Amino acid sequence: MTTKLFDLKGKIAIVTGGNGGIGLGIARGLADAGAGIAIVGRNQAKSDAAVADIKARGARAISVATDVSDKDAVSSMVERVARELGRIDILVNNAGINIRKPPHVLELAEWDSVIDTNLTSAFICSKAVHPAMKAAGGGKIINIGSMMSIFGASFAPAYAASKGGIVQFTRACASAWASDNIQANAILPGWIDTDLTKRARVEVDGLHDRVLARTPAARWGAIDDFAGIAVFLGSSASDFVTGTAIPVDGGYSIMG
Ligand code: NDP
Repeated sequence: MTTKLFDLKGKIAIVTGGNGGIGLGIARGLADAGAGIAIVGRNQAKSDAAVADIKARGARAISVATDVSDKDAVSSMVERVARELGRIDILVNNAGINIRKPPHVLELAEWDSVIDTNLTSAFICSKAVHPAMKAAGGGKIINIGSMMSIFGASFAPAYAASKGGIVQFTRACASAWASDNIQANAILPGWIDTDLTKRARVEVDGLHDRVLARTPAARWGAIDDFAGIAVFLGSSASDFVTGTAIPVDGGYSIMG
């Protein structure tokens, strides 16, 4: 019974930004539970390596080079996944960037680029997969928020706006598509060791030690820490869970 609840055999997942970092951790988890994976990103060399990684775990995998903020590119990507992998059961909106500047320094073009990549992309991708999920009788959408969905940060105005927005967007999709048996949930990662935060540790003074001091688990997260939550939210184990935003943060968000 328990095994079946978390079984993703025969399911197909699209993971945006799945060629590295948290997206790759999620793709690996879904693949290990039996799902076929479409890796979506712009850097083809990284995507090829991620496809090889997933295939080595015994799962089906393709990569589709796509800028997730480009609506036409996303529609072609969704058509290709449906054609080559046969169905779409899970969408993980994970692609994201940050430009670390305070609001009085950030340029409008930089604001637009962060909002387009982190938030508008989730709208474009979710809308694009909705017809296939509805026709199949259900689906799962997993959006990636952040601790900045909850907290402010002087150096991340557009990023925090995008990550607050993604939680509210998740709730909108959860309400709108419940009758189509589509569950939409968000994951709020704490501080995870990836390319994104390697740069943050250089750009934000004292960040590394502050994170360690505040995190009860006393470590930075690893990408494989996202396998379990992804399988839960991607499988029938979470069929009555929708519109939530679940921290995966080693306790960072519960510290006063
Ligand atoms: P990485 O920089 O390692 O990964 C980001 C991914 O997004 C890459 O695979 C990149 O692929 C993809 N991407 C970026 N822009 C686009 C685009 N326009 N179109 C398609 N793909 C794109 O970062 P993380 O793994 O750390 O971040 C993943 C998500 O987790 C992000 O949403 C981030 O905000 C969030 N997050 C991360 C935290 C952390 O501590 N690391 C904490 C909280 C949230 P490519 O370059 O090939 O396009």
